Amino acid sequence: MRSTMMQMPLSLNQLLEHAHALYPTREVVSRRPDKSLYRCNYGDVYRRVRQLAQALQGAGVARGEAVGTLMWNHWVHLEAYFGIPAAGAVLHTLNLRLSPEDLAYIIEDADDKLIIIDDVLLPIWDRVRPLLKKPPRIVVFAFSGAPLPAGSESYEDFIAADASAYRYPEQDENEAMGMCYTSGTTGRPKGVVYSHRSMVLHSIVGALPDVLGSSSRDNVLVITPMFHANAWAMPFGALMLGAKQVFPGPHMAGEDLLDLMEGEAITLSLGVPTIWMMVLQALQSGKRTWKLVPGMRMTVGGAAVPRSLIEAFDQYGLTIKQGWGMTETSPLGSITSIKPNLIDAPADRLYDIRARAGLQVPLIQLRIVDFDGQVLPWDGESTGELQCRGHWVAGGYHNQPTDPEKFTEDGWLRTGDVATIDPEGYLRIADRTKDLIKSGGEWISSVELENAIMGHPSVAEAAVIAVKHPKWDERPLAVVVKKPGREVTPQELRELLLPRFAKWQVPDDFTFIDALPRTSTGKFLKTKLRQDFKNWISKTPA
Ligand code: ADP
Repeated sequence: MRSTMMQMPLSLNQLLEHAHALYPTREVVSRRPDKSLYRCNYGDVYRRVRQLAQALQGAGVARGEAVGTLMWNHWVHLEAYFGIPAAGAVLHTLNLRLSPEDLAYIIEDADDKLIIIDDVLLPIWDRVRPLLKKPPRIVVFAFSGAPLPAGSESYEDFIAADASAYRYPEQDENEAMGMCYTSGTTGRPKGVVYSHRSMVLHSIVGALPDVLGSSSRDNVLVITPMFHANAWAMPFGALMLGAKQVFPGPHMAGEDLLDLMEGEAITLSLGVPTIWMMVLQALQSGKRTWKLVPGMRMTVGGAAVPRSLIEAFDQYGLTIKQGWGMTETSPLGSITSIKPNLIDAPADRLYDIRARAGLQVPLIQLRIVDFDGQVLPWDGESTGELQCRGHWVAGGYHNQPTDPEKFTEDGWLRTGDVATIDPEGYLRIADRTKDLIKSGGEWISSVELENAIMGHPSVAEAAVIAVKHPKWDERPLAVVVKKPGREVTPQELRELLLPRFAKWQVPDDFTFIDALPRTSTGKFLKTKLRQDFKNWISKTPA
């Protein structure tokens, strides 16, 4: 028997129409480079999204062709998030922290027909353009508010024509709506291409009470860059719900973010742990206080979230919820939620759960597989590679549909993360395969050591990497950044670690530096640290 339900393709245009019908006056607030705030609403966004879509079609951008964005987080980037797909084209967000060589490579790999650029980012474009065989058309948005450089085509002129009669192309739900490139910590960046179907399903599941629990009543601060992993797809989900969206522009300092949280009564925010460490330092500095909405939720992921960070924010009445995901998973894979049978668990157990990467969300499946391809039980002990599948998980890359290193024969994504899952389903990320430390034939998790070290009150940040050792092959070296004006010795850090780890897991080697190198998305850049400390002589006796 066939169902009698209507057959309608899932489309981002439906989310846009819904927000326009119900929430045209909900605000979108953006911080400009001069720190002033620009305010508009979903009614304005709707109108301008359709103007952009019509203009792109008029410019000859064909269905399925890529249009790049080189922009900070702000209202025009939101217009591009919906306007490029509404033209039937593919939103290709360019990571402004990549090298000019990598940017040129991905612009050519995606074959971008046109790129929308913030005026303040034109210096980046000037370094990329000479590397391109056929530079695409450039449309410049005057984000700074200053007059545009002579000869540039203005975004406002480009989208100026009335589009009230604009009609969306009729598209199959599996057609591409967007693409992001993986950061390429190993090898060239690879293009992940999302569909209307995958992004709509992701937006719906993302809002569920046990996932983000977001609603029209939320005021959302989107700190995660819109040029990375779809800003965790929040711009799509928040607009669908009619939640107010607030964008920080280029201002990412802890104080700046706290000012926005206070001023815009933020209830939900998202970002990588390093951002929240800066916010916490600003709160703890005692320089001033901020009146934040009690119970403000923060979704934190992209790298391990130290338990000490969760505990510290709880003291301010602010709640961290940890999630795990990747560019390849759109990115929502798992998120913390306390199961009903655990609600009354002792506080220590609850913190232990919240320091894990959460439960797989509906429509996503996770499994742990050992190095021989054997699927392992969810017992909290068995450690292996995390694999994933679901409706918004990549099954291949643009221009590279098969890659046995990333996809299994039976259709799972190989994440490159090493993990356990406990009997309740809680995921614990032990490490990335390439960051594990092998000492005397036994694996040491760098993440667990880092989290413990960052629990010391004088430590701002820490990363643990492998250094060579003549007898044990590799030993851990802890690279530590102290908080301003605070002191801590290697001996104190060892004493902190010894009761919690096996003796051979505890580093004998510590070094202190001023700041950890970061990836383009704000995570600790361990490849650089390994390079910097490649001649380190381990203090562990041979
Ligand atoms: P990249 O880090 O290379 O820029 P992604 O942004 O796609 O690429 O990052 C995905 C990776 O981030 C995951 O494979 C995992 O290693 C790490 N990650 C994401 N969330 C968490 C988490 N909650 N705990 C630990 N690691 C995480």
